[in-house]
Amino acid sequence: MFDPIKAQSKKLAAIAPLGIGKFFSLPEDVISLGLGEPDFDTPAKAAAAAMAAIEKGYTHYPASEGLWELRSATSAYLRKRFQLDYAPEEVLITVGGSEAFDSSVRAFIEDGDEVIVPEPTFSCYEPIIELVGGKVVPVITTLEEGFKLTAEKLRQAITPRTKILLLNYPNNPTGVDMTEEDYRQIAQVVAETNIIVITDEIYAELSYSEHHPCIVQQPGMRERTLYLSGFSKAHAMTGWRLGYVCGPTYLIDPIHKVHQYSVMCASGVAQYAALAALNHCQEDVAKMTAAYRQRRDFVYRRICEIGLPCVKPEGAFYILPSIRETGMTSLEFCERLMEEGRVAVIPGSAFGAGGEGFVRISYAYDMDTLREAMNRIESFVKKCRKDQIAAAKPAFALNGEKAVSF
Ligand code: PMP
Repeated sequence: MFDPIKAQSKKLAAIAPLGIGKFFSLPEDVISLGLGEPDFDTPAKAAAAAMAAIEKGYTHYPASEGLWELRSATSAYLRKRFQLDYAPEEVLITVGGSEAFDSSVRAFIEDGDEVIVPEPTFSCYEPIIELVGGKVVPVITTLEEGFKLTAEKLRQAITPRTKILLLNYPNNPTGVDMTEEDYRQIAQVVAETNIIVITDEIYAELSYSEHHPCIVQQPGMRERTLYLSGFSKAHAMTGWRLGYVCGPTYLIDPIHKVHQYSVMCASGVAQYAALAALNHCQEDVAKMTAAYRQRRDFVYRRICEIGLPCVKPEGAFYILPSIRETGMTSLEFCERLMEEGRVAVIPGSAFGAGGEGFVRISYAYDMDTLREAMNRIESFVKKCRKDQIAAAKPAFALNGEKAVSF
């Protein structure tokens, strides 16, 4: 008899579904700070370029590697903006940063190969690695370490089966970025191995420090690194599904092979929009980044006032405060905050075991929404503290201890 449950791939069946859907479809009076996507619309010139492309009939399969003009413009953008040196031939245009990651992993991972993933981490990496038979080796980064991967922890995680080191800074969900010195130390460890580095730089443009460094700039790293990025975040183009992966051609060619068989090419119309975004929309990008920075300053200040421990984010649009003091799991906290406080944020457990005890707040929302949401979070946390003290009182009375302070 046909059994649809058993029909599913065992590797897929072993992977838990993305269980945070309930924090996305919300009653009207709940404020969402859950989404990892810009609240801004795609810049007008980019949208207009797509419409012009449709009118001109540019609706056939484009070149599989991506439009030459877009690969060239991406190469020029990376050089100008981040001092990275990729020739147009070294740029492969993909269906979002998501496909850039998926095709890269499929190109290089064999059964049992290990991938080192600093946690907390973006929810989509680990399932994709497991689906191709790779083994995730999580390295937990702590709030005390500023949620950064250290050279020492990396060294300890490396085995003869380590194939890939995955980096993502500015990071989803912590908002943390690395310094040049952090990368220098990491690169020294990597240089002694055969490891390929994947650096997911999708938030590079949304970095609030003067200079956003990249591991590619460290000695010996360019030749073994895949640089992933895309247009979703900084260019407010999530729905267009456009990203890219850059690297030496000997690394890009195998990825292109996967890409050709799986998706053939990214949308041509979207590529014309991205071309205009790179060539004509840097002002829009700068305005959006300035708005995120203002929101970051506000949200960070309010989280500190509320008294939840956190690391000041240096990029992206997330902050990851600790909710450990409440004694709740991150899921319990988020369920109760939604139920009682009418604000939706994402439980840290969605970002790997290293995310437990934290919640991810996205500040890709307007200031009025953020103000109201922070007030609600403050009231909810205060109430939790009061409840905790009240629950603890009888015990204090019995053994005469002092009340807990937070
Ligand atoms: N990497 C990270 C770290 C992300 O946060 C996201 C989206 N949330 C992606 C990749 C995927 O982006 P895209 O829309 O380009 O597929």
